[in-house]
This record gives sequence, C-alpha cells and structure tokens, in this order.
Amino acid sequence: MLSEKMKILFLSPEATPFAKTGGLADVAGALPLALKGLGMDVRLVLPLYRTVRNGDFDIYPLGEDLEIPMGKQRLKAGIRGFRTEEGVPVYFIEREDFYDRPHLYGNEKGDYYDNFERFVFFSKAALNILEKISFKPDIIHCHDWQTGLVPCIIRESSASAFHADIPTVFTIHNLGYQGNFSEEKMSLTGLRRGDYFHPEGLEFWGEISLLKAGINYSNAITTVSPTYAREIRKSEYGMGMEGVLEKRKSVLHGILNGIDYHQWDPAEDSDISAKYSPSSMEGKALCKTSLIDEMGLDGSLKDRPLIGMVSRLDKQKGLDLFLEILDEVLALDVGLVVLGSGNEEIQAGLLGVSRKNPGRFSLRLGFDELLAHRIIAGADMLLIPSRYEPCGLTQMYALKYGTVPVVRATGGLDDTVVPFNPKNGKGNGFKFRAYTGRAFFTTIKRAVALYRNPKAWKNLMVNGMKEDFSWPRSAGVYMALYESVARGR
Ligand code: ADP
Repeated sequence: MLSEKMKILFLSPEATPFAKTGGLADVAGALPLALKGLGMDVRLVLPLYRTVRNGDFDIYPLGEDLEIPMGKQRLKAGIRGFRTEEGVPVYFIEREDFYDRPHLYGNEKGDYYDNFERFVFFSKAALNILEKISFKPDIIHCHDWQTGLVPCIIRESSASAFHADIPTVFTIHNLGYQGNFSEEKMSLTGLRRGDYFHPEGLEFWGEISLLKAGINYSNAITTVSPTYAREIRKSEYGMGMEGVLEKRKSVLHGILNGIDYHQWDPAEDSDISAKYSPSSMEGKALCKTSLIDEMGLDGSLKDRPLIGMVSRLDKQKGLDLFLEILDEVLALDVGLVVLGSGNEEIQAGLLGVSRKNPGRFSLRLGFDELLAHRIIAGADMLLIPSRYEPCGLTQMYALKYGTVPVVRATGGLDDTVVPFNPKNGKGNGFKFRAYTGRAFFTTIKRAVALYRNPKAWKNLMVNGMKEDFSWPRSAGVYMALYESVARGR
C-alpha cells in the first residue's frame, strides 16, 4: 500500500521543541510524529536558529557545506542533523548571519530587513540537501509564506534535478502573514521574471508575495479548519487573497489541527492543583478555589461563575468587543481572570477596569504557560470572541478541561464548538455570530444563566470533556490528502 512507504518532507520556519512563536510550531512539531505513528517516513527541515544552537539538542554536522545561488552570489549553507526521541530525522540549515539572532522573524522594532533573503535561502537550501541525504520525498509539505517559493522552484527546476517533479502541499496557518516584498528582490529567486512576476503568478499589487507563490504553484493547499478554508475565499476574511483562493478552491482543503493531549489533559496534568476526569470531577472545584486564591479574587466567587481568558491581546482576538462590554459583564456578578500579552492600548484598557474591580477582576499581563494551564483548569468558562480564527487551540483545551467555551462562530471556533441545547442535553459550549458587543454580551448572559442549573451545566462540561481532537485523527486526513496528491501525478 502506498501509505506504508510514503516519504514526506516537512519544510517549516518553526517547530516545537526547537523554535516557536505561535500555533504553527505546535503543528509542525506534532503532526510529523502523528504521521510517523501512521507508518510514514517523515522528516523535517528547519533553520538553525540561536534557540537550537544554544538549546539542549544533540545536533551533529552532516557532510560538506552547500553552495546556494542568491542572485549573483553563491552563499554557503551548512547542514546539521538530529533525531527526535520518536525517531523523526530533523535537518537544520546553518548560516550564522541569517539565523543566529535573538528572534525568529524580527524584534520589538519590526521584522528583520532581510527576511526575504533569509527564507528564500532556506527554501533553496532545504531542497538542495535532499540529494546529499539521498531522500526523495513523495510529497513536500510547506508551511506558511516562509516556504512559499518552494513549489515555484520545483516547477522551474530542470528534469534532471534531484527534486524535479516532487508534488507539494502548502499550508496557510494565518492569512494575515503574507510575506510581501519589493519586486526589486525578484533576481534573488533565480526565477525568470516574465514567467512568474504577474498577477496569475506571485505578484500581489506590485510586490512579490511568497504566500501567493505557495497558493498558486503548489499541488494542494490546506488551511487549519474547514470553516476558515471557506471564509478566506470571501472578502471579509480573504485579506486581499480571496480572488486567488477562489480560483484555487478545487485544491483548497480545511483540515482541523489536533491538540497534544500529553500536555493538555486534566487527568494527567501535574501543573494544576488537582487532577480530574469526567468520572471524577472533584478536582475541578479544587482547581477553581486555588485559582481564586492565587489571583487574589474574592472567596465568595467559589459559588459564582468564574470567567477566564488566555489570549494574545490583539485585534484578531476580539479584545475590542470584550472591552466594550467589560463593565456589563462584571455587573452580572461573576469573577474574571485574564492572562494575555500584546497590544499596549488593549493592555491599558484592561488594566483600567481591573483596578476599579479588585477582588472581582484579576489581570496578568505577560506570557505564562503554567498559569495558562491553571486558568483553563480553574475557570468555569473561557471567552474567545475572535474576529477571525484559522483554527484556535484554547477552545479545544478548554473543552478537555470541562471549561465551557464562549466563542464567536468563525474559523476553527465554529467547527469545534456546538451550542448547548438544554432540551436534549447536546452541545459543548456557546457561540455568537455577529461581531458586535451586544451579541457577545447576550451569549455570556445565557452561559451565566445556565451555570445556575448545576445538572445541565455538568452535562455540558462532560460533553466537552469527551470530545476528541487528538492529532492521529487529523494526521489520517493529511495522509489521505498526500496519497491523492501523489496519485494525481
Ligand atoms: P494564536 O496562535 O492565534 O495565538 P491559538 O489559540 O491557536 O491562537 O494558540 C494560542 C496558544 O498560546 C495557546 O496554547 C494559548 O494557551 C497560548 N497563549 C496565548 N496567550 C498566552 C499567554 N499570555 N500566556 C501563556 N500562553 C498563552
């Protein structure tokens, strides 16, 4: 059977545990392991960032340096190797002046000025190592704009090239990041300008768009939830790419991300005050009491709804709606715990309200992975009012922890949260569609009202805890796609 022998190469700008700025790293770290579990030969290529160089990874040199053409120059690239505990080979592209930096893509002042050079170089080098390691993949799976040029390079390569004709799958993790650069950099790609720099190719309003290159030249495109796959073909969510995506809709698929239940399971989680499961829920109440203590909230909130939020403080996440209705929510006689970092204006807005409501609203600014676990375990509800959400992980964590998600019906939130119906006891959360403070507030009010019915609330919590969003399920869908793309050649 084809699947047993399938060879997959992952090209990603980040992957856990090596380098992470967001959800992409979780996917590029976990999906190869799940695919390997299905019997595939999966390998991963990453840049050799400082976090890898200085990290606790036993990496080893792999043969001689490569010479990579970049315009008129030929730049050297080193190759390093590593094998994960699970046996997935990882190859790192080494070039100090590009990747030995404090951050992956930029600093507080903005993106690094040479991100185009850094990731075009990465894309070319990643393809060039294949012959050296004698690995000819059946599929190359590229992730986000940083690897978007790869399908173009393969298409342009001569028939005798080792990587000629390898089919590609390109995944969009967030359409908000498009990798758009000045057309003057076209010569660095090695592609003939006339063949590629046009609106049907990789040109996007007079610039080079590496995301558009990935969309237009890959054999199949995926994004991280079925609803987001439909939404991005409309102007409201398409960020200017809706027309391009509409044309490619026959090869555009939405595959929901999985979550890592080794890290997010209240029955196993040693970072929370007490473990619990659907058949033994006492620990959940203990987690709530500990959270109330830790956050300096009023002890009487033990018997009232405790509402949590763990989020980047960004407009994408619907924080403007939250700020609009914050006073009204507090008037519902509930407690609030918010953990987040990001936009200064949003931070200031939240701080102002939390200072006026000591004991009722506790705010932590910053990134704190362990506190995220304690909030998701200790709260009764988790708010996720995103303007758009390619997939979203926190609602899936909340469901597993019996913390009821209250979400906006968009992207992956719409795919994973089913409104609770008290009449038949089905559903796992609450959701609203219109992006308005009114719709959001009314939905929170309904959740708070249901909380006062302990039997219905327990039914709702347990429904969520029994959902299965594990990686093997998603990996099976990717495997079927790889097989159909490979067969289509
Ligand atoms: P996005 O990748 O758009 O930020 P996701 O829901 O896909 O949204 O993933 C966010 C991840 O980051 C989740 O694991 C969430 O728990 C975590 N997270 C977000 N903000 C914080 C924070 N301030 N501290 C700790 N973890 C956070």
